[in-house]
Amino acid sequence: MKMKKFISMLMIAACVCSMAACGSKESADSEEEKGGEEKKTLIMATNAEFPPYEYHEGDDIVGIDAEMAAAVAGELGMDFKIEDMAFDSIIPAVDSGKADIGVAGMTVTEDRLQNVNFSDTYAKATQVVIVKEGSDIAGPDDLTGKKVGVQLGTTGDIYASDIKDAEVEQYNKGFEAVQALTQEKIDAVVIDGEPAKEFVKDAKGLKILDEAFTEEEYAIAIAKDNEELLEQINGALKSLKESGKLDEIVAKYIKSDAE
Ligand code: GLN
Repeated sequence: MKMKKFISMLMIAACVCSMAACGSKESADSEEEKGGEEKKTLIMATNAEFPPYEYHEGDDIVGIDAEMAAAVAGELGMDFKIEDMAFDSIIPAVDSGKADIGVAGMTVTEDRLQNVNFSDTYAKATQVVIVKEGSDIAGPDDLTGKKVGVQLGTTGDIYASDIKDAEVEQYNKGFEAVQALTQEKIDAVVIDGEPAKEFVKDAKGLKILDEAFTEEEYAIAIAKDNEELLEQINGALKSLKESGKLDEIVAKYIKSDAE
C-alpha cells in the first residue's frame, strides 16, 4: 500500500517534470495510463526441488518462496513469473539480468555476496544430517570418513567438503541424495532442515539427527547493480512481515511440530 502511494507520487513527479520539459501534458498523461497495462514483470529464478519452499504441484510451482515472491510482486504493482532452473544457475541468472530475483531457500554466504546482493533475511534455517534408522552416525562429528550426499552447489555441499576424509557425492536434486541413502549407496545426507523433514516423511527407515550442522538465514538474491530493486524488495518484505502475510504463508506450508 505504502509502496503504491510512493509509486504514484513518483508518477506524478514524472508527469510534472515532463510537462515542464516539453509542455505536452496530453502525451505524458496518456503514456502513464498505458504504463498501467504494461506492468513490469518480476522474474524469479528458482530450483523447484526444495519443498516446502518451492516444488512442483501439477503444472504449478508452489511453496513459501513462490507465494512470498508473488506477494512481493503484488506489493510492487508488478506481474510475476517463475523460471525453474538448476540451483547453481540461479546466481548467474540474476547476475546477468535474465532473472530479477533469485528465491530458492538461498542462504546468505560471503561467497555469494561477491556476485549478488541479498535482501533482508526472511527465514532462519539449519543444515541437518539425515541417516538410516540404526546408523552408527549419531552426530555431525561421526561423518568423518563417510559417504555423504548433498545437493550440488548448496551450503550443504560446501560444509560436507570440509568433513575430514568424507567422500562427498553431489546430486542435482536433494531428493536424489535422499533416494541414494535409502538405497544404501551413501551413509548420510547433509541438507536444509525443512526439506529434510519433507523428504524423510515420504521415505521409509530414515531419520534426522537432533544435532544440526549449521544455522543459516535465507534471503532474496538481486543483481549487484540494481540497488533500486533491492530497496523495493526490502520495503515489500517489511510490509509482508508487518502485516502478518509472511507468517500466514509460512504457516500454510510448515505445520508446527505440535500439530
Ligand atoms: N540453503 C541452501 C543453499 O543456499 C540450499 C538451497 C537449495 O537447495 N535450494 O545453498
